[in-house]
Amino acid sequence: MKSLYTRIVLLFVGVIVVSLIIASIASTLLFQKPFEQTLENSLLSNGKQMIQTYRSSAGTELIPFMNNVSSISIYAIQLFDASGKPLLEARSEPVVPDAERIRHVLAGGVARDIGNEGRYPMVGLPFPVDGKSYALFVMLKSNELWMQSNKEVNTELVTVFLIGSSLVLAAARFIVKPLLRLRDAAGRMAQGHFDVQLRTNREDEIGQLNASFNEMAQELAKLDRMRREFVANVSHEIQSPLTSISGFAKALKQKRMSEESRMYYLTIIEEESDRLSRISQNLLRLSSLQHDPHPVQSAAFRLDEQLRKVVIALEPQWSGKEIAVELDLDPVTVHADEDQLGQVWTNLLGNGIKFTPVRGRVRIRVYADGRSAIVRITDNGIGIPEDQRTDIFKPFHKADKARDRAVSGSGLGLSIAKQIVDMHEGEIRADEGPGGGSSFTVKLPLRKSL
Ligand code: ADP
Repeated sequence: MKSLYTRIVLLFVGVIVVSLIIASIASTLLFQKPFEQTLENSLLSNGKQMIQTYRSSAGTELIPFMNNVSSISIYAIQLFDASGKPLLEARSEPVVPDAERIRHVLAGGVARDIGNEGRYPMVGLPFPVDGKSYALFVMLKSNELWMQSNKEVNTELVTVFLIGSSLVLAAARFIVKPLLRLRDAAGRMAQGHFDVQLRTNREDEIGQLNASFNEMAQELAKLDRMRREFVANVSHEIQSPLTSISGFAKALKQKRMSEESRMYYLTIIEEESDRLSRISQNLLRLSSLQHDPHPVQSAAFRLDEQLRKVVIALEPQWSGKEIAVELDLDPVTVHADEDQLGQVWTNLLGNGIKFTPVRGRVRIRVYADGRSAIVRITDNGIGIPEDQRTDIFKPFHKADKARDRAVSGSGLGLSIAKQIVDMHEGEIRADEGPGGGSSFTVKLPLRKSL
């Protein structure tokens, strides 16, 4: 009872039944009156005709004449004398008007009895003959033709009902079928099969629904793939420092070992532990950036000053590699989350230094351009292959050129930077820098709506 199919069928059948009822009521209302009028006129004129025929045939006996008329007429007739007694021979369908009507007609009036449920249409006419009053009643006999046409109408209505209902049975299947396919596909997807695709060449709402469903399935499949990759990457990133920690710890168990080797092993263990700790911090940061609803604490501050501070904070790294840091900083004020943006510049500048060889050059430029503040950090280091310039913003992605573990980090820095820039409704992109290096551009809206 609860299936959509049953509901549609019941609804349509209900609509057919209601329409048929309305149609028959309307036809009765529209055609009954004119029909009764025509019938009344016909009965009256027939009665008058009989009276006239009698009058024009002089010398004829009234009762035998009327009996003859009665036997050949398509109507049933009866004649009453002044006392209200029927004078003609009774036929199969006796004409029995009530006494009141007979009296009325004997007194010279015309009686009409038409449209009364269960009684045959009948009229009464006064029929004075030689000073005596008679009442002539003419009545429609049960009419074969009339019954036949009624039967035909009824058959038509039933046929319409039956054909309509069976067409609805078939049509409802047609409507419900794509929904059933959609339900099955959704069920498969709920079980984790994201490869479901619904084939359709329809362009109506069902077609659009299928297209949206396919799109959703593809997106979910992509998300699922990303999730798997993410988990695999996390495991891999954690596994490699753990392997070296455990390897070097085993090596340290050997009793005979020079102090120098011991320090070397311990340093590696320390570095690898730091690395693990950085990975977990970055993962936590990325996850909180992605899931906190309103992490942006917006305030006005000078971007050029912030960049200067970041350069100073990273001084040990760039001066250690004798990298020349060039600053070209216009005074620019932005409304943004200062701590978060500090993280972005630290990551970008840190990468610039990391992926640029000794005595290289890193350039930082900030300027305002109409409605945006633009920060560009350019280096002349190893650069990023063109086909990877969007992928590097995904978690754990490392460009092939930077596979060297001594240099590359966890591959989370740019994802964190992108997440923060996105939250500020800004843009971040990587391009080729001068001499094959990299150039990172961050565009931030000057006035924030946050
Ligand atoms: P990582 O911790 O590996 O630096 P990031 O997310 O910061 O992680 O960077 C992702 C990858 O993007 C890096 O491994 C590197 O391949 C590439 N990359 C980022 N910045 C630069 C740069 N300035 N020059 C060359 N490659 C870069």
